[in-house]
Amino acid sequence: MKFIGAHVSAAGGLDQAVIRAHELEATALALFTKNQRQWRASPLTDEVISDFRNACEKYGYAPQQILPHDSYLINLGHPVEEALQKSRDAFIDELERCSQLGLTLLNFHPGSHLLQIDEDLCLARIAESINIALDKTQGVTAVIENTAGQGSNLGFKFEQLAAIINGVQDKSRVGVCIDTCHAFAAGYDIRTEEACEQTFASFGNIVGFNYLRGMHLNDAKSEFGSRVDRHNSLGEGNIGKTVFSYIMRDDRFNNIPLILETTNPDIWKDEIAWLKSQQKP
Ligand SMILES: [Zn+2]
Ligand SMILES: [Zn+2]
Repeated sequence: MKFIGAHVSAAGGLDQAVIRAHELEATALALFTKNQRQWRASPLTDEVISDFRNACEKYGYAPQQILPHDSYLINLGHPVEEALQKSRDAFIDELERCSQLGLTLLNFHPGSHLLQIDEDLCLARIAESINIALDKTQGVTAVIENTAGQGSNLGFKFEQLAAIINGVQDKSRVGVCIDTCHAFAAGYDIRTEEACEQTFASFGNIVGFNYLRGMHLNDAKSEFGSRVDRHNSLGEGNIGKTVFSYIMRDDRFNNIPLILETTNPDIWKDEIAWLKSQQKP
């Protein structure tokens, strides 16, 4: 089964995100459980929690169809101790919010070395941050997203994702989300069927499909290998539609949220319908 949706707005309440997904005829959704540009958020009230859970039940979204995303401010590989601590605390809070909402996945960007520590040390720090957070929470899997490698962001090579996973003690609660735009910008070609075969075989060998917990389906405004993160609507960017059709026909991408973060929400409904139409009969 393919779960297909978009990262929808939670304006007006978390339950509104669920309703928006339903209106798109989506079978998956992503959302922020708090303002993604702020450190602090008031705790979830019982009412917010029950409204969200009721909406999920009413519209038929199970936890495995929902991929919440954490705040953009969090850097689990921060080189400076005080800032690292702040990020770790915020990440634990994000995991707890997911847990309260009955969710089982939390998608996040691994972290940045800010040119102050070397890559290996930063990757080890990220793994240690995940260990600390998993130790203090229950039931939610930490889902590391590959990045475009913009600035000093790590996680743009499959080897870096594998290194982080390698440092996590509880392998049952760590996974990855592959963003097609980020992979392309990081130098993984996915423009043709053959290129898709190669790139995903390499992902399978280096990380492993057993760790794949979600996908972000984005075309790219950025150039191949540019390390620049600019999304585009499906078929309107430098990747083209082949990879999205390929993913829809490949069983390795079954039963995980496949989420659009494309640039024009007005056509999400059409993009979702097109993705559905590409599935095997
Ligand atoms: Zn993404
Ligand atoms: Zn991006």
